[in-house]
Amino acid sequence: MTHGRTRGAGLLAAIALCLAGGEGAKGGEVADKYRQIAMKVAAAAQADSTIYRTLGEFCDAYPKRLSGSANLERGIDWLVARMKAEGWNVRTQHVMVPHWMRGNESARMTSPIERTLPMCALGGSIACDRLRGEVFVVSSYDDLTKNAAKVRGKIVLFNVPFTHYGETVSYRVGGAVAAARHGAIGSLVRSVGPFGIQTPHTGGMSYNDSVTKIPHAAITMEDAMMMQRMQDRGQKIEVEITLGGHWMADAPSRNIIIDIPGSELPNEVVCMGGHIDSWDLGTGAMDDAGGCFAAWHGLNTIRKLGLKPRRTLRVVFWTNEENGLRGGKAYEEQTRHEKHVLGIESDEGTFAPLGFTTSSGGDTLFAFQDACTLLEPLGVTYVRNGHTGADTGPLEDKGVPVLSLNVEDSKYFWYHHTEGDTIDKLRPDEVNKCAAALAIMGFVFADK
Ligand SMILES: [Zn+2]
Repeated sequence: MTHGRTRGAGLLAAIALCLAGGEGAKGGEVADKYRQIAMKVAAAAQADSTIYRTLGEFCDAYPKRLSGSANLERGIDWLVARMKAEGWNVRTQHVMVPHWMRGNESARMTSPIERTLPMCALGGSIACDRLRGEVFVVSSYDDLTKNAAKVRGKIVLFNVPFTHYGETVSYRVGGAVAAARHGAIGSLVRSVGPFGIQTPHTGGMSYNDSVTKIPHAAITMEDAMMMQRMQDRGQKIEVEITLGGHWMADAPSRNIIIDIPGSELPNEVVCMGGHIDSWDLGTGAMDDAGGCFAAWHGLNTIRKLGLKPRRTLRVVFWTNEENGLRGGKAYEEQTRHEKHVLGIESDEGTFAPLGFTTSSGGDTLFAFQDACTLLEPLGVTYVRNGHTGADTGPLEDKGVPVLSLNVEDSKYFWYHHTEGDTIDKLRPDEVNKCAAALAIMGFVFADK
């Protein structure tokens, strides 16, 4: 999803004006006004690690929360009950979501050596039963085109080293179409991540109706590099793949909403949150229950301190971010009777928070940077232009300014979409700092 496209100037100006605190608001004024509150929120959020234990309990009980799965809906039921027990007026928004199921899968090398290959189908891939074929390894789409004559009737392996997610993921998403265009019978990708210990990474892929659909799966970085060495040595590589991926009918799911209604402008909303669905590998602790729970802890902290913002401050757990974005779209559609002034998303892991990226400029960016000075004690030092989140995308497309929480993510893609996405990868103090950063930014713009 591209960001930073032009929007409704009038609405933008109106929101920028209210975000910048009206005519004549000088830099620093906002920070001065909210400094005491920010310090209280930061101290309170960091003093209580209950949320980390609750996050562990949730991820241990409801892992693999892929859209359409029973685990996702049971997890949502559990959350709704927990929030109700905390006294929140919990609402859910009904959303129909796509439902892909993985089924049974396996891969093994049959030549030049016999070996089982750790692997996983990519989300949306078709099934196949013991598909056997010779493998041809390519290092890029250009390399594929150059070797087009050699891949017909074979299984193409995209052995592409990780550069950055935005770039390398294109082989996961589009590899099957590119390989099929040259007559390949199947395609494999080197797992999208900078570091691995024989861990396959899943994630979404897509087909094109004008091109033959071929099975598409990920193998480990180690095995992709091994096949490259074998090909470079002139050895013939053969594998046998079985995938069980298939689509079921769309299934019901829900976004979850809790909020502190605005004391003066209840119809004006600042929302913050993350996505509660995950892929069906691992427990989705880092991606993205941590983001959800950090926002929840932030709002709990604001309520505990008895703070009542002028506008509504809301936490949203969006469903179906990973393979359809139906939750984010439904949220925007079902809240059009309200006026959103800001959307804040945490979907980059909840490691040490560092800053925010936004597509807004001008007064809005200035207002964000001013408020962000309150977060320096948390190690959050910047608001700058850059990528923004998927779930706040539909709001952003309607002209609502959005922020995406950036964190120290050097290990994020080690575990991204793997069985290794578990609570032990996160630290309670860092989850609490993310909660404080979200709560302070949210409160300032809900109140000023
Ligand atoms: Zn995510």
